[in-house]
Amino acid sequence: MTNHLAKGKVYLVGAGPGRVDLITVRGAEILKAADCVIYDKLTNPALLSYAGPNAEIIHVPKRIGTRSVTQQDINNLLIEKAATGKTVVRLKGGDPCIFGRGAEEATLLAEAGIDFEIVPGVTAAIAAAEYSGIILTHRDYSSQVVFVTGREAEEKEDTNIDWHLLAKFTGTIVFYMAVGNLDSIADQLIKNGMKADTPAVVITNATLPTQRTTRASLRLIADKCTQEKIEPPAIVVVGADADSDERLNWFMKKPLFGKTIVVTRDRRGNADFTARIIHRGGNPVAFPTIKLKPLTNTNQFLQTLAKLSEYDWIIFTSANGVSFFFEALESLNKDCRVFASARIAAIGIETTARLREFGIKADLVPTVFSSKELGKQLIAFTNLQNKKVLLLRSESASTELVKLLTEAKAEVTEKPVYTIEPEKSESEWLTQKISKRGIDWITFASPSAVKAFFKQVSTDLVNSSGVKVASIGPITSEQLKNAGVRVDVEAEEHTIDGLLAAIEGTYQ
Ligand code: SAH
Repeated sequence: MTNHLAKGKVYLVGAGPGRVDLITVRGAEILKAADCVIYDKLTNPALLSYAGPNAEIIHVPKRIGTRSVTQQDINNLLIEKAATGKTVVRLKGGDPCIFGRGAEEATLLAEAGIDFEIVPGVTAAIAAAEYSGIILTHRDYSSQVVFVTGREAEEKEDTNIDWHLLAKFTGTIVFYMAVGNLDSIADQLIKNGMKADTPAVVITNATLPTQRTTRASLRLIADKCTQEKIEPPAIVVVGADADSDERLNWFMKKPLFGKTIVVTRDRRGNADFTARIIHRGGNPVAFPTIKLKPLTNTNQFLQTLAKLSEYDWIIFTSANGVSFFFEALESLNKDCRVFASARIAAIGIETTARLREFGIKADLVPTVFSSKELGKQLIAFTNLQNKKVLLLRSESASTELVKLLTEAKAEVTEKPVYTIEPEKSESEWLTQKISKRGIDWITFASPSAVKAFFKQVSTDLVNSSGVKVASIGPITSEQLKNAGVRVDVEAEEHTIDGLLAAIEGTYQ
């Protein structure tokens, strides 16, 4: 093997402007295969979830203690990792080569004889503009666009920026890294002949739920940003296109845009919930209140599994129950054939969707998503006399379903597949946020989450602070009312999407 082949490969990957799903398909695929991921401040850490569990993740901050991390440090790291034969991903915000020093890294790799690939990314200028309804090359106003670094605005001798030319430029000018120098940038442009009333807009945290826009004329934009305490990262757009058509501001018009919503499920449930909130433009805060623990590694459960085919009906009441059940099945190297001819009933869209992932189409799904309805509809659907029914659900599920089925003369067996335990989160931080009116909504998707949440946060604070409370359905609402908490909205459809639709409904 030649020395060249022993070396790994480095991918300079554009992470996109912030929102996690604005990475390219190629970028995400490469991340999945990485042995080592080196990322910095502007890349969304949520992207790291694309990487495999064994990938080495290295954060390169601007400073380590009092020492700044230099480009040379990063270069050394790239070479060192690639030299051991690893697939290295250098994840860079936006596009790797637009003001990203990707060029230096690529040159270095070329010189070291290390194989590399550049994966383009959506650069901040384009994303910031399009996520605030600004069209950088609107055919009526601008036939040219220029990207400029704002770092060199001060009267630097060696600057490459031709202010004279920029001031005369008739298209759109986009500045990166310009917040700290906005004063000098505006001065330079006006001094060199640009009209002081030229429209300007500053877009902060583009594509994220915390995105903000600040608009003013070129003369006033710096002062306005100071007043509004605007901080980087921000993109500054100067030119006629900056005065955009508000109707095109699709992102900031989303009903949940800018709304801070607390999610209180278990970690896995919160991850899914959080993604749905971001999708609708909201700003999620994850506050896990419960932990789910499988009960599927007991002898008892194994015995049940061996006899699954003896049951007439098997009932799943939650997507979590399905997940734990099939994870156990997978670890035993078995598949859905264990059900044999048993029929399957399930509550809710999420449970049925999860079952479908494992090749199971439920035979009965009640039209209303509750245990009671499932019981009633199953009894109406079939004669349960002497039929063997197995419930695979949480240990703390209500007894109502068992009662109904037993009354219909079914032979009911309950096998809890998981248990719910309370989890502690950063309640002090949340309490302060609520007191300062920094939270718009707290959501609850189960009675156990309600119980666990109010062990950490006081009901009085929630009731008196103006924060609104949303519940997934009547059973959760009842638990909230029992705890003395006001319920502002209850989902019509008892799913996470139903819960979000109910919150959105309050803004329409
Ligand atoms: N390679 C990156 C730019 C790196 S320079 C890219 O292609 O986007 C860093 C600058 O990018 C910041 O100072 C800011 O001007 C801009 N930027 C990056 N992410 C941003 C975001 N989410 N919102 C606004 N500006 C952003």
